[in-house]
Formats: sequence, C-alpha cells, structure tokens
Amino acid sequence: MPKEFWNKDAETMPLNELKELQLKRLKNLIQYIHKNNKFYNKKLKDANIKPDDIKTLKDIEKIPFLTKQDLREYYPFGLVCTEIDDIVEVHASSGTTGKPVVGPYTQKDVELWGEVMARSLWANGLRKNDIMQNSYGYGLFTGAHGFEKGAQKIGAMVVTISSGNTKRQINMMKDFGSTALACTPSYSLYMAEVAEEMGYDPREDFKLKIGCFGAEAWSEEMRKNVEKRWGITAHEHYGLTEIIGPGVVSECKHKKLHINADHFFTEIIDPDTGETLEPGEEGELVFTTLTKEAFPAIRFRTRDLASIYEDACECGRTLPFQSRIKGRSDDMMKVKGVIVFPSQIEAALMQVEGVSDNYQIVKTKKGNIASLSVEVEPTETRYKEGHLDNLEKQAEEEIYSVLNLRVPVKTIPPKTIPRSTGKAKRVIER
Ligand SMILES: [Zn+2]
Repeated sequence: MPKEFWNKDAETMPLNELKELQLKRLKNLIQYIHKNNKFYNKKLKDANIKPDDIKTLKDIEKIPFLTKQDLREYYPFGLVCTEIDDIVEVHASSGTTGKPVVGPYTQKDVELWGEVMARSLWANGLRKNDIMQNSYGYGLFTGAHGFEKGAQKIGAMVVTISSGNTKRQINMMKDFGSTALACTPSYSLYMAEVAEEMGYDPREDFKLKIGCFGAEAWSEEMRKNVEKRWGITAHEHYGLTEIIGPGVVSECKHKKLHINADHFFTEIIDPDTGETLEPGEEGELVFTTLTKEAFPAIRFRTRDLASIYEDACECGRTLPFQSRIKGRSDDMMKVKGVIVFPSQIEAALMQVEGVSDNYQIVKTKKGNIASLSVEVEPTETRYKEGHLDNLEKQAEEEIYSVLNLRVPVKTIPPKTIPRSTGKAKRVIER
C-alpha cells in the first residue's frame, strides 16, 4: 500500500479526539506562557484569567487577542518564552508598517516546522524521488526555508536556487529535471514566459508535475492558468511568520486546505466586533500555536478573511479545512460604497478570452473619493488581432457582473507591466 499520509495518526484522528488533544495542549500552553513570559502573564492578569480557568476550548475566547501592534511593541524578543540561548533560528518578514515581524525557533520548533511542511508537501504529492526547485527567495523570509525543511524530511532533492535570474532557473529546471517547483504563483507565470522566449514549451519540455505556491493571494482562475501553462497540478500553501511560516495548512488532492490543527488552533471572528463565528461563516482567521516553544502566539489576529469547515473530506483527512483567503482585510478597497478585493477583479479578468495573466489595478484618490481602473495585457495573439476596445468592454462586463461596479479597463501592450520574482504588485496607487 502506498503511504497516503505523512502522519496518518495526526491527519486522520477522529474529530472528538483531535479536540481533546487540542484542549490538553491549550491548557499546557496557558500554564507555560503564564509562567515564562512577563507580557503574557500581565495580559492574563489584566483580563482576570488564571490558567486553571481554561477548562474547555471555548474558554480561549476569554483571552484577549494578540495583534500586530503587540508584536511591534515587543520587538524583537519580548514575546519569547524560552531562554534566548535556546533559539537556534530566526526569521522575519517585512512589517507592512514599521518594524519587521520576528519569528524565533527553538530546536523543537524547527523540527515541528519540518513535520508540518512534510505533511503539506506529501499531501501535494511530493515524494523521495522528486526534485524540488526552491525558487522562493532565501533570506530572512520564512518561505524558502520552510519548503526546504519539509522536502528534505521527505527525502526529496532540494535545488536551493532562490528567486531571480530567471534564465538560469529555466536552464537548471531543464538540466536537473526538476519535478516540483516552489515559488509565488506569479513568479511561476513569469518563468513560463521566459521559458517560451527561450524557445521551450513549458508543458512539454520539462519534467515538472507539481507546483507548490504561496505567499500571494491568487484566485482559483489564476490557479487554472498556472496549471494549464505548465501542465502541472498547482497547490496552494498558507502560512505566516507569526505562526510558523508556511506549513499551517496542507492542501490535499481534492484541493482542500486542511489545517494542521493538532498544532494550530483556529478561530474565525467577526473583524469588527471580535465575536467568534460558527464554522462556514466568513470572517477573520485567528490562530493559536498549541505546541511552539520560543514564540507561542495566542489568538493572533491575521487580518486574513476566510471560513473554516469541520466536514469530512474525501481524502480521508479529518483535520478541519479553511477556505482560500479572500484577501487580507488590509487589501480591501471601498469604492463608491462597494467592498472590492483585488482577487475578485483577477477572477473576473481571467474569465475573458484573450486576457493574459498580467494585469494591474490602479487606485486613484481625489480628495476623499477613491476610484479604480484596471490595465491588462492581452495575450500576444489577441494583441495582434486588434479591436482591443471589444476586449476592454468584455472585461468591464465581467467585472461588473462580479462587483456590480463599473471599473474602466484599458489594454496595454504585452510585456509592459513589470514582472516579479517574488510577490507580484497587483495594486498600484497613482
Ligand atoms: Zn482533503
């Protein structure tokens, strides 16, 4: 029997047993932070909570949220619960405003990271005989390192090429026979473009079969484009520096994002009131790391909007799953009273025949009035055909049908929008 799961016991545990395990771990965690960190100790005291007050999973709601603001305030190591001496690895993400977010790991945290990433990559189909081209940027950012740890745990070969130097990427992909590609979805599309310019057919001339993509909000329609362009199965990854990096979820072959819930406890809250919502309802994702040592996050508000489900999945995993991220609440735009997420515009554009994967949303602000327009590159073939006003009109109609909002669309010549080797900049302000 081929091995279906990386960690069968954890991934197929009955839901009631999972909840028992979560509760046991949560109780330990609260004792642990109460004892080992001044900030958390004070936070519990201020909220009038003693560790023994946590008797059910629902009791977690008594604990105040952890916010980005807290992380900034206690930068860099104020939330560490071990000796600084016990930290063996540190990552950081560029803070959207001000100080970076720091992720410190003990030896045990590093092992946990490898374990959850191995689950994710195994669920994507990565095996020992695979060659994973790791084209996430190596550096402080968690991405590349998480993928490397997981792939090595499985025993796959990791090509540590990092991002950039795209022609070399293509040459190595060809020479090494890479079977898996890990990078941002937009970078994979740029790579396909460069491969074509170099005279290759991305579908035929490489051994690639699995894409492990993350670090970027992308629509389901964009996923289909990536799959078609490379002739691969494209998987979504999700994670945050504050939680562990990538590895929070494992996307199975039915494309469900199973949360590694024995280590990460998830809640969905109303972003305005902070009230806990039921499974299936859309709101902000809140995570608690149940087993991390160096920096446990308790009720961290992600600002990411999604829903969670506890239904059974055909893959056999019992771990709850989350929907794909609708967008960060930070990316949400309000135009003429309508709430707009960039991913909705992307999804609409991708419905239009002749529109390429390259587009930009242009945000303009005159006084207090925000307006949007979209610039898209048609495919080379469509561009040569002319009559681009038809294409623009069609795209405007698609966007209108999704948002009920008129957003002007302008076509621009192919290859004018700057390409990205990391996170694509889809929204620009003018
Ligand atoms: Zn599944």
